[in-house]
Amino acid sequence: MQRWIDTHCHLDEFVAHGGQAWADAERARAAAAGVAHCVLPAVELANLEAVRDMARRHGDSYALGIHPLYTPRAGEGDLDVLADALAQYRDDPRLVAVGEIGLDYFVPGLDPARQEHFYRAQLQLARRHDLPVILHVRRSADRLLKGLRELPVRGGIAHAFNGSLQQAHAFIAMGFKLGFGGAVTYERALQLRRLAAELPPDALVLETDAPDIPPYWLYVTAAERAAGRAPARNSPAELPRIAAVVAGLRGMTSAELSQATHANACAALPRLAGLVG
Ligand code: ZN
Repeated sequence: MQRWIDTHCHLDEFVAHGGQAWADAERARAAAAGVAHCVLPAVELANLEAVRDMARRHGDSYALGIHPLYTPRAGEGDLDVLADALAQYRDDPRLVAVGEIGLDYFVPGLDPARQEHFYRAQLQLARRHDLPVILHVRRSADRLLKGLRELPVRGGIAHAFNGSLQQAHAFIAMGFKLGFGGAVTYERALQLRRLAAELPPDALVLETDAPDIPPYWLYVTAAERAAGRAPARNSPAELPRIAAVVAGLRGMTSAELSQATHANACAALPRLAGLVG
């Protein structure tokens, strides 16, 4: 069995939906399927401690940050609390990045200037602590790259990447790996599948973004939902099957993909190497 790293999993959200027992059960199911490690990004102050506790509980790692979708309810003081937390845990080997941070120009109603302010302030924090960043990229690749050019960091992961080949190469040139997950399993995702197939083998990492971005085999259509079927939640346990799709697109064996993405995850998030061997 191959060993996999889920580089982006919101395992703490499972607690809200089904309690700690459910989160533990999903993590155990993932481990049984070969997921050796999960990276758990925070999204706001309210879950900084939750991701840290969860990471320690399962031998995983975490990132601390304020997600662009949470900037409407974040205040200036939140950046100070985040800065304090990063300083407090700077020597914690499980703290592997600043994240999840970024920009979202897809979800309506978000103030672009406010998002930009939080993004740049958090790039500064990553620089101060010499940590990589985990980026949320949605219709925002060029603006994110502009920020990185002005405030360079030591690389990281562009998570759920869905930009152009040119944008992909711009991130790679800045020391980033690109995260691929459930979205790549849909046959109609032609551009994304082409990217997953054609990017250099040292450019990609794997992720689930669980409980979000379900792969096609979990997708519940609007019609099915109307008929009473509950929307499925993605799980870190789906990672090996997502990996099999990526391996198929690239013409690699699962063993080759496991080895390459393991090395890539450790290159993007150097502290991982001390945790996953
Ligand atoms: Zn996320």
